[in-house]
Amino acid sequence: GQTLGVLGGGQLGRMFVHAAQAMGYATAVLDPDAQSPAGLVSHRHIRAAYDDSQALAELAGSCAAVTTEFENVPAAALQMLARSVPVAPAAAAVAIAQDRAAEKAHFVRCGVPVAPHALIDSEQTLAAVDAQTLLPGILKTARLGYDGKGQVRVATRAELADAWQQLARVPCVLEKMLPLREECSVIVARGRDGALVHLPVQRNLHRDGILAVTEVFEGNLPSVGVDKALHAAKSIAQGLDYVGVLCVEFFVLEDGSLVVNEMAPRPHNSGHWSQNGADVSQFELQVRCMAGLPLAQPRQHSPAIMLNLLGDLWHRAPDGSLVAPPWQQVLALPGCHLHLYGKTEAKPGRKMGHLNVTGATPEAARATALQAAALLGIAPF
Ligand code: ATP
Ligand code: MG
Ligand code: MG
Repeated sequence: GQTLGVLGGGQLGRMFVHAAQAMGYATAVLDPDAQSPAGLVSHRHIRAAYDDSQALAELAGSCAAVTTEFENVPAAALQMLARSVPVAPAAAAVAIAQDRAAEKAHFVRCGVPVAPHALIDSEQTLAAVDAQTLLPGILKTARLGYDGKGQVRVATRAELADAWQQLARVPCVLEKMLPLREECSVIVARGRDGALVHLPVQRNLHRDGILAVTEVFEGNLPSVGVDKALHAAKSIAQGLDYVGVLCVEFFVLEDGSLVVNEMAPRPHNSGHWSQNGADVSQFELQVRCMAGLPLAQPRQHSPAIMLNLLGDLWHRAPDGSLVAPPWQQVLALPGCHLHLYGKTEAKPGRKMGHLNVTGATPEAARATALQAAALLGIAPF
């Protein structure tokens, strides 16, 4: 059988590996960590840095196609792989997603509204900030941020200058703080032939900059916003000539207008519900894109809610052993599907797994999800 390769061994890689294996593919994972969640379950685990040319050659030589689960993989590594094996998404698309400034420029090119923003990469650009339009705002590092890391909220010029100092004066984007009513995201998958399918719009709740809950069901978001978000996500993928799974995050503002926040060139935490609530998951879509299989439009068959399981829910027993949440009680509830990533160290804010809750109706799914949340010690939503 064919082997599909993935750069990065985190939980997204692990769930890609599971989906690939279910469809009869062998897998190869490139990740330096011996205990990486994907490496642990893959047929093959190449333990090396992402820019190790020998390891990249080994991956290319053993795979029919290679993808990434990690947007901060060096674009040069993708370019190098692409010389000898089909790689999707392409290095050029990943390079844009890696840089908030380039990403925003792409959104603007696609005609999708973005937050008012400015690039801060010098004393001059710092001094030139239009405080009237951009403050209060959020200063975000242009590269490498995730889960709200590399972001500082600033209300005044003085705070802005301090924040930039705090972020080691790396290139940053200052964004105006917008009044959010909701947050949502859209997952699209686009094949090499340009065929494009999508999952329904997902409503996301973040806590402390980290995704906490995703809810997906009819009537969850205003329908005008839903149509606009789907249309925008498709334009963004097409404008990149994107191949693979792409997630686009949006803000719905107090006045109901839609603003694009950022994109991820891979499956996304907010799409995990699709493993149990849709007939094709985002990871199967990724496999289909890689393997050149048809992309049939997925259908959501159940209202679904995803609860992220962060390290905060685990604790240490007096003897030092790690105590997991009460799965026995949670899994006694109908429609609860537990996904754990095989991580043995639980740190606050670390994504250890997720719980997908499905129900016959949105009300039923919500009632169960709230019960599960109470058992787990997750605040109600
Ligand atoms: P991810 O883990 O999704 O990649 P990230 O670290 O790249 O996250 P963002 O998505 O930029 O961070 O921001 C994290 C959260 O902070 C957003 O989901 C939103 O709740 C809030 N936020 C970000 N930018 C703004 C803004 N301009 N106005 C209001 N809230 C914002
Ligand atoms: Mg991000
Ligand atoms: Mg985000």
